[in-house]
Amino acid sequence: MCHRNVTNKSRLNRHARNDYCHSKPANLAEPGCSGRTAVNKIQRQRLAWRTGFFLLFILAPIFNLFRFDLEQNHFYFLTFPWTLGIDAFKSGDISAMEMALNMGLRFFLPLGIIISLGIWVSWKWGRLYCGWLCPHFSVVETINHFMRKASGKLSLWDRDPLPEDQADGTHVHVEKKWWWVTGLVIVGFSFVWAVVLLTYLLPPREIYYNLFHAQLTRNQALFIGVGTLLFIIEFTLARHLFCRFGCVIGLAQSLVWMGNKKALVVGFDRGRSNQCAECDASCEHACPMRLKPRSIKRKMFTCTQCMQCVEACEKVHENDPRPPLLHMLQDQCALDVSLRDFGLKPEIPTDCFPPISGGPKDSSRG
Ligand code: SF4
Ligand code: SF4
Repeated sequence: MCHRNVTNKSRLNRHARNDYCHSKPANLAEPGCSGRTAVNKIQRQRLAWRTGFFLLFILAPIFNLFRFDLEQNHFYFLTFPWTLGIDAFKSGDISAMEMALNMGLRFFLPLGIIISLGIWVSWKWGRLYCGWLCPHFSVVETINHFMRKASGKLSLWDRDPLPEDQADGTHVHVEKKWWWVTGLVIVGFSFVWAVVLLTYLLPPREIYYNLFHAQLTRNQALFIGVGTLLFIIEFTLARHLFCRFGCVIGLAQSLVWMGNKKALVVGFDRGRSNQCAECDASCEHACPMRLKPRSIKRKMFTCTQCMQCVEACEKVHENDPRPPLLHMLQDQCALDVSLRDFGLKPEIPTDCFPPISGGPKDSSRG
């Protein structure tokens, strides 16, 4: 385990910081003392995007922004009924030409625009949708957070718990009582997901009215009950697995991203890798997808561009004149990660990583 490689110096610094943090309750509010140190601007922006999209996920069917109505057998899009005119064609109200035009303009055109946009974003920035918008990934990160407080692990399948104190200032005191909260969060999310998914298929007004008045029909109750149960199993045991290999949207983004060697990627200043010996792999502990951010691109296939590893490394170097070792790279610089495979060591511009402005003698790039 990497976190056993912490040098005495950094361990002492960390212990000194923890002693300070716990000496007075007020100190816990200071940077470096709370459960995680204050998040950087990128993580605040990401939280705002994810929260906004999660609300949109819940509200979209309610306001007919997007849903399929099984009773009326057509979509709603931006409050308008979205029909292809099949019924009108069958009854002879529109010609075959008009029907074909409808198919082109109302089906293939919007579908083509959405797919092209998705491919373009993934080509340049990878699984940006996953890390910055996806409501499932918000659930993954929230459950990770509480599961770590309850067990020290981000997943039940992890072999070893993460360290309670990390070089990036993270302090997570593990207490069994958090299992109750973790369980409630899992059940709560599962129930919300099952109800919301039903409102994408049946009129939301009817579903919420029936739910709040305990008048759900047998099929509605069955859908919500079975859905909740399946989500409980998935969120508890297989949420990372689903993000990695079970989600078609995620998989498609990864495949497109892998095709572009110059796409945005987490880069590692390998010339200074000896400095990681002073750290406890905080970047790896920060990764919600359980990846090793210092690896080559092939091993980062499911990276969601959440940048939490970059933030962790920033915090490790908060009081260090030397810059962090992880940075987001793009274009020619990204080749350092994407082409570094099977013994290849690509030439990259000299300014891909920030200059070293100070620090101990060993701060030079090797
Ligand atoms: S490797 Fe870094 S950017 Fe990618 S998912 Fe993990 S923490 Fe996020
Ligand atoms: S890259 Fe940064 S956070 Fe990761 S082990 Fe090295 S110093 Fe620590």
